[in-house]
Amino acid sequence: MTTFSDLQLAKPLLQALNEEGYTTPTPIQSGAIPHLLNGRDLLGLAQTGTGKTAAFALPILNHLLTHRRAPAPRQPRALVLAPTRELAAQISASFAAYARHMPFTQAVVFGGVGQGRQVDAMKRGVDVLVAAPGRLLDLTGQGHIDLSGVEILVLDEADRMLDMGFVRDIRKITALLPPRRQTVLLSATMPSAIADLAHSLLNNPAKVEVTPPSSTVDRIRQAVMFVDNASKKDALLMLLQSPQVVRATVFTLMKHEANKVAEFLNKNNIPAEAIHGNKSQGARERAMSGFRAGTIKVLVATDIAARGIDVDDVTHVFNYDLPNIPESYVHRIGRTARAGRDGWAVSFCDPEQRAWLRDIERNIGRTISIVRDHPYHSDEAEHSTMKPPVLGGGGRGRGGGNRPAGNSAAPRRSPRSGPSRGGNAPARNRQPHRGN
Ligand code: AMP
Repeated sequence: MTTFSDLQLAKPLLQALNEEGYTTPTPIQSGAIPHLLNGRDLLGLAQTGTGKTAAFALPILNHLLTHRRAPAPRQPRALVLAPTRELAAQISASFAAYARHMPFTQAVVFGGVGQGRQVDAMKRGVDVLVAAPGRLLDLTGQGHIDLSGVEILVLDEADRMLDMGFVRDIRKITALLPPRRQTVLLSATMPSAIADLAHSLLNNPAKVEVTPPSSTVDRIRQAVMFVDNASKKDALLMLLQSPQVVRATVFTLMKHEANKVAEFLNKNNIPAEAIHGNKSQGARERAMSGFRAGTIKVLVATDIAARGIDVDDVTHVFNYDLPNIPESYVHRIGRTARAGRDGWAVSFCDPEQRAWLRDIERNIGRTISIVRDHPYHSDEAEHSTMKPPVLGGGGRGRGGGNRPAGNSAAPRRSPRSGPSRGGNAPARNRQPHRGN
């Protein structure tokens, strides 16, 4: 098996990796790093969670170490383009971690915040600039950034950048770069627009492809517990009190339920925060940084809000409610077992959700092991033939205000239409969550 020292990375980087607890390179890293150290262009097909950031950050830092010179004011030596400010900030944090034993300067530029500090950082000169395309173009237009000295360009999550409509911005940016440079393009998918972009930007690239989702899912130990709805909170508390649970994400269907679960956990001395579409961006970011830092042990999330959860070391995912969309199950449990680690995914199944469990098992092509040996086991849930609730209104009949998370445009049912618990409504109304 390849090790980081086999990859010929410089000592300060090996030391930092060691301190980060990385023992072996991930497939994208062992595939990409040798090519990048040789100065080749690279086309990488890899998703988030595969270790792709280190796959380009380490060769860039290695290049800075072996070709040392002070960066000129306003002229970054390497440019990393990212679609969102969250991703830009994460990339920057990775650079800072890997570069901790070497001289290194960087700046991150993205919109939505004042530009003063970004301009000041550029004036002082940086080795690496991590940027979202829009703000980068603003600052180059104003003369605060000069891209003529860029030696290495990385386009991270290129498919997302295209989806977000950045293709013209990317063309404008690349026109400002010197033609002699090393270029890396990373994308989770390869639609023809990305293939075209790659063709025009890359020069005889090495290609590295990794296929993470299934292999990640294979490492997740999955279990289901049949419990009645009324026992879920206590069952969750029991599980969260296990010392093995270091950092957990709990999924609920309803925003309202997410709030209630977080409140209940806090009352029981388990630091928890709910994140969903009714929370402000600021509140979500505070919750995320607390979760990352470990001051918040449990994030209680609805499906859409969960897309922003990009945290390693999530040891456990708990499905407080099963998702009504079978595909969401894989997305949810993929929050654990990141970057080669193991993880646990434990799902509660109440009598109303029994049919959803079958759909999920069909979708993943296997059955999920049942754990019955616990105080909350419900035979009724296990053998339930109930039809699942129709989502799209106050349909679960568990008190007012319960609407499916994210589906705020869905019509509300009249309270007089009565609770649907155990009702016979068909499950055809499975709308994907949106807008959360
Ligand atoms: P990424 O795909 O870049 O978002 O990487 C996901 C996470 O995996 C990173 O934030 C790192 O903390 C972690 N990671 C990256 N490479 C390794 C590695 N070789 N060993 C263990 N963890 C890693």
